[in-house]
Amino acid sequence: MQFKNIPGNQKIKEKLIKSVEEERIAHAQLFIGTEGSAGLPLAFAYAQFVNCLDASKDDSCGKCSSCIKYEQLVHPDLHLSFPVKGAQALSEDYMAEFRKEFLANPFLNVSDWMSALGNENSKPNITAMECRNLIKKLGLKPYESKVKVLVVWMPEYLGKEGNILLKLIEEPLGNALIIMVGESEDRLLGTILSRTQLTRIPLFNSAEIGTYLTQHKGVDEETAQQVALLSNGNMNKAISLLNHAENKYFDQFRAWMLDCYKGNGSRIDHWVKELSALGREPIKSFIDYGLQICRACVVEPYGLNNGRLTENESIFVQKLSNLFDTNSLESFYHLLSESRYAIERNGNAKIVIFNLSLDIHKCLTLETIA
Ligand SMILES: [Zn+2]
Repeated sequence: MQFKNIPGNQKIKEKLIKSVEEERIAHAQLFIGTEGSAGLPLAFAYAQFVNCLDASKDDSCGKCSSCIKYEQLVHPDLHLSFPVKGAQALSEDYMAEFRKEFLANPFLNVSDWMSALGNENSKPNITAMECRNLIKKLGLKPYESKVKVLVVWMPEYLGKEGNILLKLIEEPLGNALIIMVGESEDRLLGTILSRTQLTRIPLFNSAEIGTYLTQHKGVDEETAQQVALLSNGNMNKAISLLNHAENKYFDQFRAWMLDCYKGNGSRIDHWVKELSALGREPIKSFIDYGLQICRACVVEPYGLNNGRLTENESIFVQKLSNLFDTNSLESFYHLLSESRYAIERNGNAKIVIFNLSLDIHKCLTLETIA
């Protein structure tokens, strides 16, 4: 991973590069950024830059023997640790899968990772055995590079086992760089927080997401912009929306809303079956699309949808926004958000969609009656 392949984050890149130039690399660092930010890609780009044999002022070369191995995450002096399933599990047993998933989507989250392992419903964990294994690995001399690197992804899953690593964090064996990459400080051990140098990684802005999608995912600018607006700065969500949404939800969403409005039982039954059969990620994308339409309804009276909606969406949003007042629109937004959350937490899709359809019916008809 080179810095140039990570969108945005300019100040952070400069700070990391400067630390190498000035030879004051903190040996234990913590990158914290919400899901869908560039924490993990930045950690790998930093490690690659530190060990590059022909780095320029602002990036690794991407071509030397060290970079070539780093690009594929196969460098023998790069150690990785991440959550897996089971009390005896070690990251090294899942290295091939991790490389494959990270290289396909460097912004993946833990739930994507567990799905890739086929363990969607099992609790991710970084075990005590893993910690001891890491200490052993970092105790070895580097095979070929200046600096051994350990990247711990999602140290939140260390739990109290993280204390096993404290000695390593305090006094690294030999020339080692430890980078922990997590999402939330609140779930980390205080002992780790106090012994690592913290870098906060922000979410992306819409322009950064849009540009990344056109350059790396080959989508047209209009789609990229739409997806960027929907993804709230979360690159993983943007990629997931692209993979699952493909702008295909408009007809379904419009028809479903009409049936919710009418409150026809057999039609709602039809939608419960059709939507629940989509699967968890597509249902989330479908609801995300609903949230986007809802936001469009909010700003419709102020004429702020210009250029953001297709012609059909624009007509639909005008009609739909006439059915809501401010309060019922707010309720509609909450209903969608809560249902999305329930689906994310593995709620029963049929029940969630059934309840959502009825609640939307109430929300729409109460307004028309009042
Ligand atoms: Zn290089």
